[in-house]
Amino acid sequence: MRRHHKMKNIAIIGGGLSGLCAAHTLQNTCHVMLFEARDRLGGRIHTVQGLDLGPSWIWPHQHRIIDLIDSLDLEIFRQYGKGDALYETSQTVERFTAPTMLPSARIKGGIVNLVDRLAARLTTTNIHLNETVSCVRQHNNCIELITSKREYVFDEVVVTLPPRLALQDLTFEPPLPTELQTQFVNIPTWMGNSIKCVIEFESPFWREMGLSGFCFSHAGPIGEMHDACTQDRYALFGFVRSNVNMENIEHLVRSQLKNLFVNQTTNIIGFHYVDWRAEQFTSVEADQLHFDSHPQYGIEAAHFEGKLHFIGTETSFDDGGYLEGAIASVERLKGIGG
Ligand SMILES: Cc1cc2nc3c(=O)[nH]c(=O)nc-3n(C[C@H](O)[C@H](O)[C@H](O)COP(=O)(O)OP(=O)(O)OC[C@H]3O[C@@H](n4cnc5c(N)ncnc54)[C@H](O)[C@@H]3O)c2cc1C
Repeated sequence: MRRHHKMKNIAIIGGGLSGLCAAHTLQNTCHVMLFEARDRLGGRIHTVQGLDLGPSWIWPHQHRIIDLIDSLDLEIFRQYGKGDALYETSQTVERFTAPTMLPSARIKGGIVNLVDRLAARLTTTNIHLNETVSCVRQHNNCIELITSKREYVFDEVVVTLPPRLALQDLTFEPPLPTELQTQFVNIPTWMGNSIKCVIEFESPFWREMGLSGFCFSHAGPIGEMHDACTQDRYALFGFVRSNVNMENIEHLVRSQLKNLFVNQTTNIIGFHYVDWRAEQFTSVEADQLHFDSHPQYGIEAAHFEGKLHFIGTETSFDDGGYLEGAIASVERLKGIGG
């Protein structure tokens, strides 16, 4: 005799890459509702006019994201790296041959394609944008959620927020064990302290000067810069140093570019930036602190008798912090749908 299981009702909190992948994995065996605080999906993945202001690179060893890109019929291309690099101090600009780095690749059309194509496959997931979750409460055999709009009841809940943000913005009833709270507080949100800017030009003048676009600076507002050209756009992207006055940022960047490229810059036709430190649905105040090396990520966390799950890139032991880690963390949910 066939046994009929009642499909579980699952809530996913957060529509970044891990939340989207979780929904994709669970939607065939569970009723899935996904809550996203922002008015868009993607979380830290953010592309404006085809230019990536969040992540852009994937690396050859990252088989999960490469498989996902393949399965979504997307294409990648190699990060441009031909030519010399520049090193800027307050006195000089030196040209040098950069050491060969691990080759990175980008997604054609911008990484937002990953989000759009994944979202298009979430045909049975109930997606709620602009709905912020504030409380996760264990009640009898279920979990109640309080959002900015109303209350809901689910069988199980998946939290995808960066651990520090989850601890700051979600009230857990009963509270998370103290040990888990301490672990969460000590996990920095990857890139939560970054400011990424993209400068668009009429032509890739640096390539014509035999430069790769890779620059290092101790003097200008941008500490590290790379080529960010797409199939039809010419751009450089940079990480702005944390002590820079953001009110003047465009002006400061223009002066730095003039200094770096000895006035060879063609017209700037676009300037965009995101200060991720100020993104309330990404980072907390403690994330402003600088750290020198990649943090040790990875945490096995579940609560409410195994009905409350924590995923997201910071929880991943494999490539934690990266897109690959966000996907890897979803593997922990195997078995939820039965
Ligand atoms: C500038 C920058 C550059 C980066 N570069 C790279 C790179 O080149 N390569 C790489 O692999 N990785 C890079 N990363 C890291 C990469 O972006 C992350 O690993 C990945 O996007 C994390 O996905 P996630 O789902 O774990 O978290 P998030 O994307 O942070 O998802 C969490 C989601 O939860 C939502 N949310 C928050 N609070 C609530 C709430 N209370 N209720 C409901 N929803 C809520 C958020 O809006 C968000 O959508 C970069 C990140 C940044 C910011």
